[in-house]
Amino acid sequence: MIQYTITNEKYNRLKSFKDNLFCKKCTKELRIGDYIKGNRNSDTSKLYHAKCYEKLFIDLDD
Ligand SMILES: [Zn+2]
Repeated sequence: MIQYTITNEKYNRLKSFKDNLFCKKCTKELRIGDYIKGNRNSDTSKLYHAKCYEKLFIDLDD
């Protein structure tokens, strides 16, 4: 699992991979300063707000 706050530098790096950065859970745009989590294997393909990521597993338990 990866988790970090999106800095200006990271944001620009992510933008070089993808045109649109958004949370796979809530579909809102990921912005500089957001604390995010994701899966290391998929790199930039699946990123979530930290709170959304945690909610993901709660949903799976239901
Ligand atoms: Zn989200």
